Amino acid sequence: MYSAMPFIENNEQYRILVIDDEKANRMVLSAMLSPDYTVLIAKSGPEGLKRVAMEKPDIILLDIVMPEMDGFEVLKRLKESGETKNIPVIIITCLNNEADEEKGLVLGAVDYIGKPFKDTIVKARVKNHIQIIHQIRAIERLGLIDGLTNIPNRRCFDERLYIEWRRSLREQRPITFMMLDMDNFKAYNDTYGHPQGDLLLRTAAAIFATAIQRSTDFAARLGGEEFGVLLPDTDQYGALRIAEKIRMAVETANVLTTEGSATEATVSIGVASLIPSQDMTLEAFVALADNNLYMAKKKGRNQVCS
Ligand code: GH3
Ligand code: MG
Ligand code: MG
Repeated sequence: MYSAMPFIENNEQYRILVIDDEKANRMVLSAMLSPDYTVLIAKSGPEGLKRVAMEKPDIILLDIVMPEMDGFEVLKRLKESGETKNIPVIIITCLNNEADEEKGLVLGAVDYIGKPFKDTIVKARVKNHIQIIHQIRAIERLGLIDGLTNIPNRRCFDERLYIEWRRSLREQRPITFMMLDMDNFKAYNDTYGHPQGDLLLRTAAAIFATAIQRSTDFAARLGGEEFGVLLPDTDQYGALRIAEKIRMAVETANVLTTEGSATEATVSIGVASLIPSQDMTLEAFVALADNNLYMAKKKGRNQVCS
């Protein structure tokens, strides 16, 4: 349904930086992890800090006992910089005592593994932390999803609209932007209650999301009971067909209350379709859809204006 969403990452290759002064350790860790990750190597603390700054690894495996600058110092510096403080650090060390483990964890390491280490344990712990990173990134991406309706939110839509507008201008292709606003939604809330209003919004969002067909089409909740649909490469003729399909689908949706009785709801749609020109702004394009929505409301709601 939402194949167009820009935030689905596939087979992301995570990068692990190993900072260790002993060649044997570097080789063992690299051989162990390189089948699943991209492994970067640094032979000392200062070289490690340099590589972190340059290459922004996803996770760091850090030795403690090193000449020049020890791992605790490296860790401290990583945590002091806003750029690097969120990169998880796993300490791998022969300092197998509680005091050092405590010191490492207090300084901000996410894990502490003693030497000699067991392959399977290192692999499993790295995998755990990679999974956490993956989840955190997924949640960050969710900053672009509307919590109520599970479709993209305004922030996401604005980014997308800008990109597609520029592309249409460059390629001189038509673009359509629709603004959709539920009719008399305040009255619907007043009659059936706010939770039922929420259910209607979720149903409407699902209708909009299903009505769009191409992978580049995009539907989002712009706020309240207002939605946007973006149809790149679509002229007014194509847009009106989709808008009418959406209007009818909402009219016939008959969303049920918890008691099982059907409710009625409608939507008004303002459509703007054009081929962008240099002297037209994106704001003017958006205003065109907005004005057409206003016209649809004025003419009696439950209709499409373009
Ligand atoms: P019109 O046909 O002119 O659009 O009238 P309307 O009643 O739909 O528009 P109005 O802007 O007067 O009212 C919008 C209502 O939408 C008021 C607000 O409480 C309600 N609303 C906004 N966000 C939500 C929400 O997330 N859930 C629910 N249930 N209601 C919401
Ligand atoms: Mg409304
Ligand atoms: Mg409104």
